[in-house]
Amino acid sequence: MSIPERIESIKRELPSHVKLIAVTKTHPVEAIMQAYQAGHKVFGENRVQELMAKYNQLPKDVEWHLIGHLQTNKVKYIAPFISLIHSVDSIKLLSAIDKEGEKFNRVIDSLLQVHIALEETKFGLSADELHQLLQSSEYAQMRHIRILGLMGVATFTDNHQLVRTEFRFLRNLFDEVKRLYFSQTESFNELSMGMSSDYRIAVEEGSTMVRIGSNIFGMRSYT
Ligand SMILES: *Cc1c(COP(=O)(O)O)cnc(C)c1O
Repeated sequence: MSIPERIESIKRELPSHVKLIAVTKTHPVEAIMQAYQAGHKVFGENRVQELMAKYNQLPKDVEWHLIGHLQTNKVKYIAPFISLIHSVDSIKLLSAIDKEGEKFNRVIDSLLQVHIALEETKFGLSADELHQLLQSSEYAQMRHIRILGLMGVATFTDNHQLVRTEFRFLRNLFDEVKRLYFSQTESFNELSMGMSSDYRIAVEEGSTMVRIGSNIFGMRSYT
């Protein structure tokens, strides 16, 4: 199957309320252009440097999502154009995004990343840290960020039950956070969970955004 055919077939399978973020990391601009020319314009990258290189080469109506760990000193590069930052995992980073949003006179949409996997290396807030952040006076004063929901990366494993448990945990946390802090906020509605190997489970557990790379563009080669 070609890249556009793979995108089509995944989209056909997804419920209409689930958005497909095509993850382009390590793949060349030519591959991304195949998707773009077939009408798919929502792409995700996990590193700022690579995102900037591709942003500069691709048409300006692409909707870019940052899905990987973000350092506060790099926020300034993406602040003018980024559509959604999926990976906010500290009040310090949120505050840096707020400041850059103010500079560029825009409100930057973000998701809070929650640590749901067994692996210690994966980034994200604990449930306690998430509550602390949302209750902080620092957050209450921010005017240039808008939190649309939560994001999580499940354990990379064949154990589907474990993956399902992790997604369900995130879904329940989302419901709780929405009830406690965002009950009057319609825009708090996104749950970014699911990758190539586990997006079907994620959708069953309530995902509204799936981040799919290898199923569309093929295997990544890290050199
Ligand atoms: C790379 C990456 C993906 C996509 O992974 P695939 O297995 O290629 O679909 C999704 N989310 C994050 C955070 C990633 O870094």
